[in-house]
Amino acid sequence: MRPFRSAAWSMVCLSLLAHAAPAAEKEELGKSVEGRPIVARSHGEADSPQTVLLIASIHGSEPAGTPLVERFEAWLAAHPDRWRGRRVVVIPVANPDGYAQRKRTNARGVDLNRNFPAGNRVERSLHGPAALSEPESRALMRALRAYAPDRVLSLHQPLECVDYDGPGEELAAAISAAIDGRLPVKRLGGRPGSLGSYVGVDLGKPIITLELPKGVEARGAEQLWDDYGQGLVAFVLGAK
Ligand SMILES: [Zn+2]
Repeated sequence: MRPFRSAAWSMVCLSLLAHAAPAAEKEELGKSVEGRPIVARSHGEADSPQTVLLIASIHGSEPAGTPLVERFEAWLAAHPDRWRGRRVVVIPVANPDGYAQRKRTNARGVDLNRNFPAGNRVERSLHGPAALSEPESRALMRALRAYAPDRVLSLHQPLECVDYDGPGEELAAAISAAIDGRLPVKRLGGRPGSLGSYVGVDLGKPIITLELPKGVEARGAEQLWDDYGQGLVAFVLGAK
């Protein structure tokens, strides 16, 4: 036991603690059809000049975004100086019933990413009986209203690209560059009633659809972070 070193080490730890980010605030946005909570965790000050929103697993069969954003939250906690001035809101599982069963739709067979009140919505049973007919899409809408994000990123698979809607072209390019072009910028075109169409076209805000490759969830959170984490960091920092 060397008391001097031990005291010095305590001071290092205290100074690290003083610079650590405050714990995330958790909010329940609503419950799924089967009663699973839909949770948002917000990091940073509520009165930050910018707010950004990241959403994973709106399609339950595209689950890789969830471990990636959870790993991203660990980065947020460890590096508060890198994202100061922003509030970062994370919805790790937007479609918890679909996620539990690894299926695309919610428990009622509705594609939540076609259930938003976008101008291009198409009436089909797969899209739900009406816009916002599903508790999960209403929970996401609640987050859009409550947090009023300046930009949004939603994680999907398996189309391997950085897609954008609204004024998101520079942001998409910055994200693609940050991951060494591993996912190229590609416009997929506005899907009817999608979150991308609603946020990008109807609200006029930048929204990124980050399409990861098929099956990458098997790589585990650390490898996902190594491959795509800097893309999320670039999203938080915004286009230069
Ligand atoms: Zn998808």
